[in-house]
Amino acid sequence: RGDAAEPVIPFAQPGSLTRVYAVASGKGGVGKSSVTVNLAAAMAAKGLSVGVLDADIYGHSVPRMLGTDQRPTQVERMIMPPIAHDVKVISISMFTQGNTPVVWRGPMLHRALQQFLADVFWGDLDILLLDLPPGTGDVAISLAQLIPNAEILVVTTPQLAAAEVAERAGSIALQTRQRIAGVIENMSWLDLPDGTRMELYGSGGGQTVADNLTRAIGANVPLLGQIPIEQQLREAGDEGTPIVLRAPESASGKALLDIADKL
Ligand code: ADP
Repeated sequence: RGDAAEPVIPFAQPGSLTRVYAVASGKGGVGKSSVTVNLAAAMAAKGLSVGVLDADIYGHSVPRMLGTDQRPTQVERMIMPPIAHDVKVISISMFTQGNTPVVWRGPMLHRALQQFLADVFWGDLDILLLDLPPGTGDVAISLAQLIPNAEILVVTTPQLAAAEVAERAGSIALQTRQRIAGVIENMSWLDLPDGTRMELYGSGGGQTVADNLTRAIGANVPLLGQIPIEQQLREAGDEGTPIVLRAPESASGKALLDIADKL
């Protein structure tokens, strides 16, 4: 710390105007990446300058969900990120060969994250969203060291077991003294064609996580919204056009746009 070789991270400088959100979850498959790309696309559509850093080393599905298979280009010492749906995007997957799994240990991950934050030409971003790996791992701790002012967004499903692990991921913020911007509940229900609502994963997980984190941290952690299960959302992700752009009037699209407005 403080030595001259330490790369400069613009978002960590005093006076930086970029809001940094780290999207965290307790476990995989709860929709963390889907939420990240949709919030990014929604904010970019509002005219904000937005970047996404896909730091989910195990999942890295962000480029596909944003519909890009472009690689970054190098201009002198800077890495130029591809732009998809007006969002600048960098993913660890852009630096690996084919489908090889990433088997980096803590220190290497820390350096990779540092490089993505310092050497990528992000420009003047209003918003940087980071898609963290699930759980309470090295990447979350590294990020807290590199950008202490990053705020946490916790994604969970309504299921009690998922909520418990999500709460653990959120409570890292207690140790790192980061702000928790809020909780997002995904896969909250499924609207059936006959008009009934099916709560596939139970109910209450998002509110429980928000309440328990509020108590643990001693600051209000709001439940920012509930996103229903919709086939369209999954299809939009597979197709590479986020649901907030492809079907903004859908129930999940509306929920995501509403959450983006609160951030
Ligand atoms: P994570 O990043 O937490 O591992 P993903 O965003 O990759 O989760 O989502 C896992 C899968 O579930 C993806 O195929 C995604 O399209 C799908 N999915 C996520 N949220 C929803 C939703 N609300 N409705 C339907 N499918 C969803």
